[in-house]
Amino acid sequence: MPTLGIYVQVPFCASKCSFCNFSSTVERSSIFDQYTRSLQLEIEGLGGAYTERAIPREILNLPADSLYFGGGTPALLGEGRLDLLLRTLRANFKWSGDLEFTLETTPGSVDAAMLRVLRDLGVDRLSIGVQTFDDRELRTVGRLHSAADSSELVSRARAAGFRNLSLDLIAGLPHQTEASFRQTLETTAKLRPEHVSLYLFEIDEKSRLGREVVHGGTRYQAATVPGEEFMADAYESGRNFLANEGYVQYEISNFALPGCGSRHNRKYWRLEPYVGLGAGAHSFDGARRWANQVDVRSYLARLAAGGSPLDEFRDLAPAEQIEEFFFLGLRQMEGVDLALARERWGSDRIRPWEVKLQSLVGERGLVVEGDRVRLSRDSCLVSNEIFQEFVSL
Ligand code: SF4
Repeated sequence: MPTLGIYVQVPFCASKCSFCNFSSTVERSSIFDQYTRSLQLEIEGLGGAYTERAIPREILNLPADSLYFGGGTPALLGEGRLDLLLRTLRANFKWSGDLEFTLETTPGSVDAAMLRVLRDLGVDRLSIGVQTFDDRELRTVGRLHSAADSSELVSRARAAGFRNLSLDLIAGLPHQTEASFRQTLETTAKLRPEHVSLYLFEIDEKSRLGREVVHGGTRYQAATVPGEEFMADAYESGRNFLANEGYVQYEISNFALPGCGSRHNRKYWRLEPYVGLGAGAHSFDGARRWANQVDVRSYLARLAAGGSPLDEFRDLAPAEQIEEFFFLGLRQMEGVDLALARERWGSDRIRPWEVKLQSLVGERGLVVEGDRVRLSRDSCLVSNEIFQEFVSL
C-alpha cells in the first residue's frame, strides 16, 4: 500500500550562511507565531484547497510514514509552536504505525533540554548541518557554531536517546584543503552517525558566495574556494573513506550504515507521494506537482486572507513522468527497474528510453543488468550531463 511523506518547511535561520542557496531568511522571532498559525490554517484547509485546484484528495488519505521538518532551522520555533504543529498534523493526516520523523538542525541551535523536548515530541532522526569540522572554514561561511559545538551536539543527541543521526558535509568551502577535508571526514567517522550526506559546494547565483565566485569580489573570500579538481578529488576520497568506514553509498550524495538510509528522501527519488507544507514547499502525487508561494510574507498574507498558499500547479504528461522516473531514480546507486517502468507506462512508451539507455552504457556512464539500469561508479560526478541526455526525449 502506498504511504505518504509529509514535509514541513520552516524557512528561518539565525544567520545566513554565505554558501546557502535555499530560500531561508533571518527574521525576528515575532513572526514565528504567525507562521505557525498559518501552517495550522494551511493543514486544516488542505482538503478544500485541493478541491478548489482540482487536485485529487486521495493523497490526504494515505498513511504517512515519514515526517520531515526542514528549512531553515525548525527548532527555532521552540517547543510550544512545534507541539501545536504536531497536534494539528496528527489530527489532520492518517499515520502509519511506523513513522520516521526527521528534524533538520544546526549545531548551537539546540541545547540538551531542547533535544529532550524533540525526543518527547516524537522526533527520532536529526539531520545536523555540520558542513565542516574546521573552525576557519565555518567562520568564513558565516556559521555561528564551532567544530566543537557540532561534536557536542552529537554527544548530547546520543545522551537524549537519538539513535539515528545524519551529518551534512560540504566539499569545496573557502579555505578547504585536502588535509582539512580529511580531518572533517575523520572526525565524522569518530562520531559514528548513522547517515552522512556529502555535498559539493554549488557555484550558482543563488548564494552570496556563489555570486562572488562568478562575478568576483572579496567579501566572502571566493578567491579561496578550491577549484573543480579539488571537488572531484574530495568527492572520490570522501566516498572511499566512508566506504572503508562501513557506510554504503545509496545515492549520489548520501551514505548510510546498513539499513539507515533516509526513508523520506527516498520518496523523492522513487516518485512516491508527498505533501509539502509551508512557504515554498512542494508536493507530488505521482501525476502532478504543486508548490506553495515561496515568499514568506505572501504565504502569510494568503492564509490570513482565508485563501490557499498554492502557487504553482503542473500536470505531468506521461513523457514527463517517465523523464522524472529516470532523472530522479538514477540518482540512487541501485538505479531503476525497467520492468516497473514498462508496467507503469507501457512498453511502447518506454522503448525510446531503452534505446537511449543502451547508447549510454559503458564509457558513457550507465550499467544495464537485466532490467536494472544504474549509474556506473565513475559517472556519479558527471550525472547531470548524463541526465541531460534524457531531457525531452
Ligand atoms: S543554516 Fe542551513 S538553511 Fe540556514 S542559511 Fe545556513 S545552510 Fe542555509
